[in-house]
Amino acid sequence: MFIKPKKMIVANWKMNVTSEKDAERLFLSIKNVVSKLEYTNMICCPPHMYVNQVAQHVSNKNYRVGGQDAYPEESGSRTGETSVLMQKNAGAEYIILGHSERRHLETKLDISRKVTAVLEHGMMPIICVGEEQRDKNWKKNLIQQVRDVFNRVPKKEPENIIVAYEPIWAISSDKKNPATSAEYMEALEVIKKELQKIFKTVAAASKIRFLYGGSLDDKNIEDFLKNAEVDGFLVGRVSHDPRILMTMFRLIEDHVQKELFAPKEE
Ligand code: PEP
Repeated sequence: MFIKPKKMIVANWKMNVTSEKDAERLFLSIKNVVSKLEYTNMICCPPHMYVNQVAQHVSNKNYRVGGQDAYPEESGSRTGETSVLMQKNAGAEYIILGHSERRHLETKLDISRKVTAVLEHGMMPIICVGEEQRDKNWKKNLIQQVRDVFNRVPKKEPENIIVAYEPIWAISSDKKNPATSAEYMEALEVIKKELQKIFKTVAAASKIRFLYGGSLDDKNIEDFLKNAEVDGFLVGRVSHDPRILMTMFRLIEDHVQKELFAPKEE
């Protein structure tokens, strides 16, 4: 049986860290706590130019490094781009792709080419999908996003694929309006059904891991832990707030421990 690994927190620093010194300070402020966690992994996604620096500090399996985007071709005349290979050589093992803050800069084809390149390099794509609004077409739009990415990518290694459901209306860059666990579960059902069709079997699709992202913090994480089927979370605003992250780690650890040791119903 395929056993899903620990819960994960993907910390997308976005462009909020602006010097090597800040990157180092932030990383070191949480590193020791993360290295002692039993049931949680942290994937730290700094701006490209600090990936290598953060990766050099990684000495614990709970802590991994990811990129915030990457160009699919390995090298060439592509001014300003950073390739998947460059990120890998710098120490990244994960790449966030299709983030809503980047979708206006790239086509659907670009996103699936990036996902394919990440998988081909033995890395893990964290693919963001999510509707703009909960209007009458939201399910249709979400299904289309899933098809646009997954119809074109290799179906060989679903266990290396991570899907982050990030409804655009919930992401905190404009305002703080998190989804509820019930809204997440509704979307998860839609996404999973589509992935089962694309990957042809329920077993293959069930190896994909699912994250929630959108204004998540220490106040609403428990709703998801208690009421949702979720493998982890993608955070932006709180990704560079060690105090809030620590509380979230503690809540995850307590929750998983309780779940593991709860008496099983016959
Ligand atoms: C994001 O931008 O992916 C995100 C989840 O941001 P926030 O946590 O700030 O809503």
